[in-house]
Amino acid sequence: MDETAVIDAVPKQLFVGGSWTDATGGATFDVHDPANGSVLCSVADATPEDGMAAMQAAVKSQPAMAALTPRERADVLTKAFQLLHERIDDLALLMTLEMGKPLAEARGEISYAAEFFRHFAAEAVRIDGGYQTAPAGNQRFLITKQPVGPCILITPWNFPMAMGTRKLGPAIAAGCASVIKPAPQTPLSMLALVDILTEAGLPEGGVNVITCTDANGVIEPMIRSGLARKLSFTGSTKVGKILLEQCAEKVLRTSMELGGNAPFIVFEDADLDEAVAGLMVAKMRNMGEACTAANRIYVHESIIDEFGRRIADTMSGLTVGRGTQEGVNVGPLIDQAAVDKVTRLVDDAVSKGASVITGGSTIDGDGYFFSPTVLTGVAKDAALNAEEIFGPVAPLTPFREEDEVITMANSTRYGLVGYVFTNDLRRAIRVSESLEFGMVGLNSGLVSNPYAPFGGVKESGLGREGGSIGIDEFLETKYIGITVS
Ligand code: NAP
Repeated sequence: MDETAVIDAVPKQLFVGGSWTDATGGATFDVHDPANGSVLCSVADATPEDGMAAMQAAVKSQPAMAALTPRERADVLTKAFQLLHERIDDLALLMTLEMGKPLAEARGEISYAAEFFRHFAAEAVRIDGGYQTAPAGNQRFLITKQPVGPCILITPWNFPMAMGTRKLGPAIAAGCASVIKPAPQTPLSMLALVDILTEAGLPEGGVNVITCTDANGVIEPMIRSGLARKLSFTGSTKVGKILLEQCAEKVLRTSMELGGNAPFIVFEDADLDEAVAGLMVAKMRNMGEACTAANRIYVHESIIDEFGRRIADTMSGLTVGRGTQEGVNVGPLIDQAAVDKVTRLVDDAVSKGASVITGGSTIDGDGYFFSPTVLTGVAKDAALNAEEIFGPVAPLTPFREEDEVITMANSTRYGLVGYVFTNDLRRAIRVSESLEFGMVGLNSGLVSNPYAPFGGVKESGLGREGGSIGIDEFLETKYIGITVS
């Protein structure tokens, strides 16, 4: 399909109780192409009443979702996995149009997103339990797992499809009904995804979608109503903390995938080719707009000049442009606010003594473009050491000692992921164990995999998504004490 056709094919309404409906009062909001600022289409702008209607629909559907046999849940996810692959070209184009990432990356995300469904289809039929004899011998303990109940799922704009399947996959596999709210910048991928899940046979109300511009106004009453038993959120630490407070009132189960501030450490014994390639993935995937993006790059002082030259050469060779164009490696940032933030962080670093080796500025034109940038000599108190850059900027800082770099790497309130490049086995284990992060990429610039437990410590979040434990986030453990004598 061409651009107009893929946009036209997506439903633009709310999906509540198995029906597409307009928002109360008929309000809509515009979705933009970040490559040129043009309006792609308008989608329904839900009111708080619409949010509660979606919540009620999930509650109503919960018994039917829980009653699906594990095989039936697996079949829905498997069918949706197949449909995602069959439609990958159109879905990738849709994602590129609303989010900006180059088509090849969008295809990669659809494939990654679909893999969560394949993984959780397999997990649905493996939910286990236990059987124990009480120490006194008079009882048996039957340990069983049940769906946690209706869920609220909230996703960000940077991975518009994968952040959805990472939650919907385990929710469906566990037998939970849900209301999902995508980010207003990128609602189309989620609307298309829910259309696919419906086609795959999900029961009415099993997934409901709310698109809106007043996230707090719509979501807070849903949380405070107590109708949901679980909130799974991916987004900023700031919003995550607000939601945790709201969830406290009715003691909702929570999963929080929040912000990151990843250190990327290159030791003097590392394979430099591998480290350069690793940094390009860890830094430039998704234009740097990833929670896993390398944010602080620490390079041993003996190799930093060589490493800096190689990174700058590679970065300056990247083609920036609209993600739909052939040969483009780097798309636009999501909006003007993102460009303003990256500009502020680069300007601040430069004002504190950093040098720009390549890039360093916005690109003239209609879209939200920022040039791939390498900075050296970044001062410790530069704001980009403390904040997520969320853009294509690589700040390099030298270090001398192993202890010194571990201290610098851990000096953040975040704890999502760290990257280490070294060929010394003992050092690799020592440093990986010393890093206060939920995940470590060891000689690897990529750690996101549906088959591994993804998540952070400290202010990067609570819980894990993916892996064999990902489904547990959507299950309650119950023990039945059976008296036998
Ligand atoms: P955000 O501002 O926190 O928004 C995330 C989602 O939450 C959006 O759908 C947003 O809708 C919604 N939201 C905002 N305020 C809300 C409220 N009071 N109640 C309910 N929902 C609310 O984050 P973002 O800027 O879109 O996304 C980037 C952030 O996500 C970064 O910090 C990144 O590190 C993090 N992230 C983390 C992971 C991970 O797995 N750890 C993965 C991807 C991204 P509105 O836009 O309408 O406010």
